[in-house]
Amino acid sequence: MTTNPPAATPVSAAGHAAARRSLEGLALGDAFGERWFPLFREPRQAVNEIRARRTPPEPLWHWTDDTALALALTRSLDERGHVDQDHLALCYALAFDADQARGYGHGMHLLLPRLLDAPADWRTLAPRLFDGGSLGNGAAMRVAPLGARFHEDLDRVAGQAALSAEVTHAHPDGIAGAVAVAVAAALSARGELTLDAVAERTPEGPVRDGVRRAARTSFSTEPWRAADLLGNGQRIRADDTVPFALWSAARHRDDLEAALWATAAGLGDVDTTCAITGGVVGAATGTAGAPQEWLRRREPLG
Ligand SMILES: [Mg+2]
Repeated sequence: MTTNPPAATPVSAAGHAAARRSLEGLALGDAFGERWFPLFREPRQAVNEIRARRTPPEPLWHWTDDTALALALTRSLDERGHVDQDHLALCYALAFDADQARGYGHGMHLLLPRLLDAPADWRTLAPRLFDGGSLGNGAAMRVAPLGARFHEDLDRVAGQAALSAEVTHAHPDGIAGAVAVAVAAALSARGELTLDAVAERTPEGPVRDGVRRAARTSFSTEPWRAADLLGNGQRIRADDTVPFALWSAARHRDDLEAALWATAAGLGDVDTTCAITGGVVGAATGTAGAPQEWLRRREPLG
């Protein structure tokens, strides 16, 4: 079990700026990705429209739980300066309580309401989820801005990401997913993103194995094919989600729009894969290069 670190070095202006870029990219990816979810489009229709790069016509693109929890994590880091797990548990619970209809997974519906009055209970409740803790992609989907914030110190990124995950995702695979995404966002903010470098700093297990497989998957591979090989989040597990999202990010590390079209082509848990890709690429690019129409349609961050 990890513990909270003592009060840490303040984050630099560059760290804050990278975190904001990443958060904007994450929210754009989440809201864009959600448009391809089967609730909105049949998979065949989605494939055709993604191939034609047709901008979804809906006037307002709502973001989902990925962004709601990334905002909660941002708020907690702004207030505390580092991951204070009990405070973070309360921020996650408050975000859930404020709007439960953001597409939260089953585990979060069970866990987060119970943390509202007793945030410190995450220590006993999170490990009991799904008999051994959640290995879902929920800790990975919200964490990119944390990686961007601390990008000047990669050890700190990995440590803080693990602490941020543990509050809801006690299983080592759930935690490894968050570490991989946070490290990728940090490397992206540094202009040094490679899948090998991410794998090197990801804890041993199926997530790291998947990132290594992604590193060996040529960027000339069609994205739908890469999703087939690496997983598209359909099983909502970290090891089924993170490798493909990071492959897309590394394939288009200077082009947020291209990265999101590539990730969307994998379908699956598409708001979450796009949130991860958007948060990682956005840490470098911000959203300034994304189509103005997308930015106008995306629900504001409030
Ligand atoms: Mg979502």
